[in-house]
Amino acid sequence: MAHSTRLIPVTLAAAIAMATLALAAPDAGADDSGKKNGRFTAGAAGVGDVYYPLAGNGGYDVSHYDIAGRYEPATDVWSATTTIHARATADLYRFNLDFDGMVISSLSVDGKKAGWRREGAELVVVPQHKIKSGAPLTVIATYSGVPKEFVLPAGDSELRTGFMATDDGATVAGQPDVAAGWFPVNDHPRDKATYTFHVTVPEGLGVVANGFLESQQTAGGWTTFVWDAQEAMASYLATIDIGDWDVREWTTDSGLPVYDAVDPDLLADPEFGESINSSLARQGEIVDVLSDAFGPYPFSTVGAIIDDQDDLIFALETQTRPVYSKYFWPDGDGVVAHELAHQWYGDHVALEQWQDIWLNEGWATYAEWIWAEHEGFFTPQDAFDFFYAEIPEDDPFWSFVIGQPPADDLFGGPVYLRGGMTLQALRNRVGDEAFFDIARSWVSERGGGTGTTAQFIELSERVSGQQLDDLFDAWLFTDSKPTITTIAAGAADRGAVSGAARTAAADSTRAVERWSAAVEKRLAHGRY
Ligand SMILES: [Zn+2]
Repeated sequence: MAHSTRLIPVTLAAAIAMATLALAAPDAGADDSGKKNGRFTAGAAGVGDVYYPLAGNGGYDVSHYDIAGRYEPATDVWSATTTIHARATADLYRFNLDFDGMVISSLSVDGKKAGWRREGAELVVVPQHKIKSGAPLTVIATYSGVPKEFVLPAGDSELRTGFMATDDGATVAGQPDVAAGWFPVNDHPRDKATYTFHVTVPEGLGVVANGFLESQQTAGGWTTFVWDAQEAMASYLATIDIGDWDVREWTTDSGLPVYDAVDPDLLADPEFGESINSSLARQGEIVDVLSDAFGPYPFSTVGAIIDDQDDLIFALETQTRPVYSKYFWPDGDGVVAHELAHQWYGDHVALEQWQDIWLNEGWATYAEWIWAEHEGFFTPQDAFDFFYAEIPEDDPFWSFVIGQPPADDLFGGPVYLRGGMTLQALRNRVGDEAFFDIARSWVSERGGGTGTTAQFIELSERVSGQQLDDLFDAWLFTDSKPTITTIAAGAADRGAVSGAARTAAADSTRAVERWSAAVEKRLAHGRY
């Protein structure tokens, strides 16, 4: 077992002993008074996100996380050693990681025992030596405990996210808070990195994660799965999913490797089994349709993770392998199109700041409309026309400013729908050719990194050669219903149409209504 030496098995008793020790000495040599001198500074506690001032950190850039841990379903205890490979971007005498919960038993920097202290969800690390800007930096932290769940308000109920214990294991998904609940991390999409996961679970259980399964070895009643995600990703997109899985490995017609993991209980359930299989079988076709619109699929593998868990009520675009709630089925094709669209918009081009969440959800919604058009249900223009006509001026929908959403309602319905409508308004203004040129250029120019709304507007203006401030101001930054100044080509002469065309229009309206009802159902529970 190539990587077994990196695993440090910790029994529950030992974990409790360590917990007691650590509680007795919460500041393990973290007295840094007197250390600050000259040009060496403390790394910032936040990366500079206005909505989440403590998310991420300053002073270094992570290239790779190696997370080696053991999960015990009986106790929910996660005992792990995470190795962080980074490079200093400032002269540092100390720096922060984000780490929320659990108990640290040891921490080293560049092979030497380091001091550390916990300040809420901030882990302040004080190495023995000062670190020069540009120098490589290796942090190894060993820790144990029950990982934190992030419980969010969702209508009248609550939304469980984070590292969640399930009936037969655990699943990991959340946004924006999830990663710091199970490993020390620079927890912001601005610092993308590659990941290796070594996850040890009781023999008989399976583990699914991002990227490719490299190995699977059993010894002494435990199985270690090694997953490798070599395409840089934002920390919230990292997932490990432990349980009983029906695994299907296959290849799309275009040659893309697929790894799907579905809870066998769901497949045996007549309410879900057939419709889930039908949607997942279409992933290759969905990727092809979206590739035609947005440019090549950005990663080297794809797939889905669907657990039979009653209180997992959302979906997330976890990179290369989205996690889906079973409640998106039947009729799950649209949400698969949505999460796969996020591989371009959200994952490959990530957010520079969470405020710009419409860039993720608007594009993913628009992709659902592109898929609906492919299916012959309705066009993006049909959707735009329907919601524009249907939602009256005084509806709170229009007072929700999606370019600056309330920090406690980042995933409000308008972020999705008004976001999609913004893109259709842009398409109507600049024309199809420029619109899809913008869509593809956004991905090819910023793929692997991040983007902001301002950069998207700049790109749209550059590609179209038009001044678009009025359009984006009205759709993104105004708390009222935008007036339509540009009618889509063809939309103007819809007044005089044949009987057949009227029937087609009625069909598409019903199709949009069905889609709208599906979205309402999704958003009533969680998010996607
Ligand atoms: Zn989404």
